[in-house]
Amino acid sequence: MEEHLVPSIEIGECTLCQGCTEAYPEVFHETEQGYVEVLYQKEYPVEQIDEAIKYCPADCISWEKT
Ligand code: SF4
Repeated sequence: MEEHLVPSIEIGECTLCQGCTEAYPEVFHETEQGYVEVLYQKEYPVEQIDEAIKYCPADCISWEKT
């Protein structure tokens, strides 16, 4: 079976700095409840997600296998 990688956020670590939500709103979205969620996409843009992982100041974005 084919493995899929999806971005994942460690909510407890996220400082809501808005870095990822401003840079990549098509993937990262701040909910009304005040946390960042990953929006569903059939395929995630690897380079953009890698950038988000690199620049997240709380180091709380990672790839997760599904
Ligand atoms: S860049 Fe990191 S700390 Fe900032 S909002 Fe996104 S997940 Fe949270």
